[in-house]
Amino acid sequence: MSKKGLLLCVCQGTCPSFQGMNIFEVINAIRREKLVDFVAIHPQLCADDGDTYLKTIAADKSIEQLFIAGCDPVMQSKMFRDAFREASFDTSHHFAVDIRNMQTDQAIEAIKNLITVNS
Ligand code: SF4
Repeated sequence: MSKKGLLLCVCQGTCPSFQGMNIFEVINAIRREKLVDFVAIHPQLCADDGDTYLKTIAADKSIEQLFIAGCDPVMQSKMFRDAFREASFDTSHHFAVDIRNMQTDQAIEAIKNLITVNS
């Protein structure tokens, strides 16, 4: 089965960029509509343990699309490049959206839009 997953990365939850949204409400809104097969919130994917987490997830060959909502897409592709390479994950299956400085509803819409235009 080809799976779609959504990861929310939130700069440890301490960065002001994520203070305007309820991250649990954001991720639950996507779950409620069953837009993906699994979701997770990670505090810092660009830290060493985030790398390990990403490698572990990306090594799953049944993942067809990995949506990551967090910082800028260009930043994401630079910071996650090594983890994806080590996991032999095709980076064309990574879809990124910047949700920093958004309110809850805005972040939900941005993620829904990312998933919809790439499905
Ligand atoms: S990957 Fe981006 S959103 Fe996640 S902690 Fe690092 S800078 Fe913040």
